[in-house]
Amino acid sequence: SGETAAPIQSTDTHCPYCALQCAMTITSGVGTPRIAPREFPTNRGGLCRKGWTAAELLSTPDRVSSPLIRDESGTLVPTSWQVALDFVAERIRTIQGKHGKDSVAVFGGGGLTNEKAYQLGKFARIALGTANIDYNGRFCMSSAAAAANRSLGLDRGLPFPVTDFDEADVIMLIGSNPAETMPPLVGHFAHAKNTGGLIVLDPRVTATAALVGEFGEHIQPVPGTDLAVLLGISHVIAFEGLLDRDYIAERTQGFDHYLSALSAWWPERTEAVTGVPAEQIRSVARTLAANSPKQGGRTFIITGRGIEQSRQGTDGVTAAINLALMLGLVGAAGSGYGTLTGQGNGQGGREHGQKADQLPGYRMITDPDAREHVAKVWGVELQDLPDKGKPAVELLKGLGQPDGPQALLVHGSNIVVSAPRSIDIAERLRSLKLLVICDFILNETSQYADVVLPVLQWAEEDGTMTNLEGRVIRRKAATQPPEHARSELWVMRELAQRLGAPGVWSTDPAEVFDELAAASRGGKADYSGLTHQTLDCHEAHTGGQPGSGLYWPIPATSQAGTPRVFTHTFPTPSGRATFHPVQHRGNADPITRDHSIYLVTGRVLEQYQSGAQTRRVKALTDAVPEAYVEMHPLLAQRYDLQEGQNITLKNDRGTVAAAVRITRNIRPDTVFMPFHWGHENSVNRVINWVTDPISGMPEFKTATVLIETSRTT
Ligand code: SF4
Repeated sequence: SGETAAPIQSTDTHCPYCALQCAMTITSGVGTPRIAPREFPTNRGGLCRKGWTAAELLSTPDRVSSPLIRDESGTLVPTSWQVALDFVAERIRTIQGKHGKDSVAVFGGGGLTNEKAYQLGKFARIALGTANIDYNGRFCMSSAAAAANRSLGLDRGLPFPVTDFDEADVIMLIGSNPAETMPPLVGHFAHAKNTGGLIVLDPRVTATAALVGEFGEHIQPVPGTDLAVLLGISHVIAFEGLLDRDYIAERTQGFDHYLSALSAWWPERTEAVTGVPAEQIRSVARTLAANSPKQGGRTFIITGRGIEQSRQGTDGVTAAINLALMLGLVGAAGSGYGTLTGQGNGQGGREHGQKADQLPGYRMITDPDAREHVAKVWGVELQDLPDKGKPAVELLKGLGQPDGPQALLVHGSNIVVSAPRSIDIAERLRSLKLLVICDFILNETSQYADVVLPVLQWAEEDGTMTNLEGRVIRRKAATQPPEHARSELWVMRELAQRLGAPGVWSTDPAEVFDELAAASRGGKADYSGLTHQTLDCHEAHTGGQPGSGLYWPIPATSQAGTPRVFTHTFPTPSGRATFHPVQHRGNADPITRDHSIYLVTGRVLEQYQSGAQTRRVKALTDAVPEAYVEMHPLLAQRYDLQEGQNITLKNDRGTVAAAVRITRNIRPDTVFMPFHWGHENSVNRVINWVTDPISGMPEFKTATVLIETSRTT
């Protein structure tokens, strides 16, 4: 709570934003707190512009200064915590009394600490008794997680430390743009980049693609055909005999089946589908094979949201994993497959139970042993544990519908900007009987709220995060919170008590972590060998070293962490990785006469996620003040458009407006728009809510649109 955070002058902690979780020191006392980068293996003393300016958030004038409740005139007005919490509890009781337990839903976030993510999963299931909890990580990591789980038996974003990239000969980045999203990571690519071993697959010449230089490779496919490119590369490796037969025989299963799925993807056919020259497909395949462990090389294949945020996201990542397995990369020293997790706690957020289908410790909620273990830790009867809930898009689509949730509690997410088909999502929110937002500022979603509960932000409370390597790190309270803000742990306890929930509801992050560790014991993401205290020791001694005790799994029995997984075996019933055959189906949105332009979406360096936080930082907003549409000069010419001219992109989901930016860094058949802005500039208004059938991931990355030029400057 506000009372528990102590003023500290100089505190070692980590960045509020992305999953690299760069290390920093915050000096607080008089005036605005100051941030200085700190030496740590992931960032090596570097920070990107977002990290450097993060202190501005701590003194933002936009802070919600007391609980807010909507009055009869429709205005959000200040109220006391007592009134706000009593109102929420009473409304929940009434709604559940009429519509059943599942009529109240919870939506979490990948920026919540492990403690809050864990407590939120527990709160939903045993205080609210609802199956309906999911979180915005479904929009982020779900395809990579699903593919890694089914192929390798485990999803740990990077199953090796980022420092392993330092020695790599080849790094292939598929739909990933770390030069903008997590710039300090790119320092680890220096060797591969300088020796011509950087391969980037992206429809745009992104900041990362621009790094490949004369001797690397930029593969620039038709949007939505990245999976086909991987099949083409795999075809060459298989049919030119470049694969690692010993590795395939000793460590995998299902290869023969996969081989037949590859047979149709000879380079010329791949070129016809993807637009990537057959010669480039051959050349990339040969480069990968020549630098595989079998040839004494070190090669990494890495995926990002570009391939993952698709209705075929799981299959796309599976194709990347299959390629890595053919080359014997996974688990080999200095090589591997991994995904670059996006959100600050995207990894931990999916391990501790705020996902519709999971319990703490990365256990499936359908697993009887996992249910029994977690029910015991929570002190509830097995039959009181709800079943699997609906994944994010299904959950949001059902809001306010006759058989869907009638109430929603949102923690750390701005769904009106970040969800696909956001106009329809806003309509769903409007039809709810209760919308409660827990946040420290008012964002676009708050305008539909019945109650806003002001909570602490990143540097105001203790906790832990799990970064993109599966390294558990400490976030520390570094500044005093405003008087009326409270920790979400406190909010959950207050509501749980008002709802008569069983179990213990600690508000102390260290105690909640201990409970999380107990709940995770024996699971895939086993944290049972960790406490806040042991993490503090490691944090103090990491210097430039990997800090091996910090990587999960860390079982209580050994208390030793696991920097690298898959080195000897895979956590599957057979101990082997599996080749799953996959085929290219393409985008859900077809190119038609009306919708003749591809739209791809992504990020800019200066903004983070829905922009709810970074748009409040002056230096970041000054650098990129508004959304824009990037297009090739040939396309601009076709529509007679000038730089800076306002246009509208349109399809049957809606419209989105922004100014034109003309650049040769994009294909002439494609426009690009970043997604960090709200209202009529929110590109997710025109994004399809079709999802991947395995992961539930929406197709954020590609859509088709028509360009309207009626709006002029
Ligand atoms: Fe580091 Fe990411 Fe923060 Fe930038 S946003 S400083 S890359 S953690």
